[in-house]
Amino acid sequence: MPAGRGVTIRAAVSHGVGVPPSIEDLQLNAPSPNEVRVEITACAVCHSDLSYLDGTWATDFPLVLGHEATGYVVELGESGNEYGGNGSDLAVGDPVVITLIRSCGICRACRRGHDVACTGEISLNRRSPLADTAGNRIIQGLNVGAFAEQVVVHRSQVVKLPDDVDPVAASLLGCGVLTGYGAVANTAQVAAGDAVVVVGCGGVGSGALQAARIAGADPILAVDPTPEKRVAALGFGATHVVDPARDDIATVITRATGGYLADHLLVTTGAPAALDGAIDLLAPMGNLVIVGMAGDDVKIEVAPSWLAAANKSILGSKMGTTRVAEDIPSLIDHHRAGRLDLQGMVSSVHSLDNIAEAFDEVWRGEVLRTVVLPNEAEETFQGSKTISKKAASTC
Ligand SMILES: [Zn+2]
Ligand SMILES: [Zn+2]
Repeated sequence: MPAGRGVTIRAAVSHGVGVPPSIEDLQLNAPSPNEVRVEITACAVCHSDLSYLDGTWATDFPLVLGHEATGYVVELGESGNEYGGNGSDLAVGDPVVITLIRSCGICRACRRGHDVACTGEISLNRRSPLADTAGNRIIQGLNVGAFAEQVVVHRSQVVKLPDDVDPVAASLLGCGVLTGYGAVANTAQVAAGDAVVVVGCGGVGSGALQAARIAGADPILAVDPTPEKRVAALGFGATHVVDPARDDIATVITRATGGYLADHLLVTTGAPAALDGAIDLLAPMGNLVIVGMAGDDVKIEVAPSWLAAANKSILGSKMGTTRVAEDIPSLIDHHRAGRLDLQGMVSSVHSLDNIAEAFDEVWRGEVLRTVVLPNEAEETFQGSKTISKKAASTC
């Protein structure tokens, strides 16, 4: 395909809250300077996608969701190699991880390494590369729109993936695992011997647990009301698991830490109950790290003098305060060295045609993570395909 001409792709288009996505032909623009066109191998379903579809978060429609993906480069925009950020040596055919984090590389935030706070001018922020066959704009959901055969994204959103890494499992690196890892490594800066508590053991929490293990934290407590997720958490590095419906969290933390309490308590869920009394579980100098997105109406009460007196901090962690160009390669290294289990997090895979079932699996809480393979024919799946019976049965 010559540069400058768009392509026709199949994509899962969402038309409204509560409406299952439909598979439609869309026009995808050719990549402009500093953009790249990628053929999608795998795209994981994230709770953020579903938060738009169930109305938890407001959005306009129609849009194509899917924002943590892998694929391979099929076209580079003109001057694409001038971008100084990730993958400046990118070439057609390279396998890549795609993230929703889009950064200009030159604004004040980007110069300080704060990719997630970028305020720069990026043309994709103003103009979706997607349109229907009548020419009407389709929103590129969460900056990617990877429940589709191909995407056009900014160069900052793409990191090279070594050939020997499984692209299905690696799709998790684009959002959930990245967020959990970053919350531990970047936001909280967990060190060896720190006592860490992870509240919520879904996709983000599982990444946080593994990051805490990589950092050498001990003990590592996992809190989740779902028995299967507590079992899985033990495999991801938790030394203790807590059922909030049955166990007294303060008692478990007190025993596990010899009375010192938590150096870092990471809340990866948006459930308001997860924040109740969380500050009381912190050791002096401890951090409460808020990763999960609660509703805008959720408030917490804090006595400022108590924070000051005990040197406690409350830290917000947007996408794990991620620096894409450093953190995704680090995660790939950890995975290749056997320190980061990604395959164990993938419970099932689906074709694009079967995406509604993939969404339903996540809504029903049956899977830890499910992944859509947009370029695989439905016949090869025979509906849902369970990859890991262990993961499926424990999540
Ligand atoms: Zn996500
Ligand atoms: Zn920027």
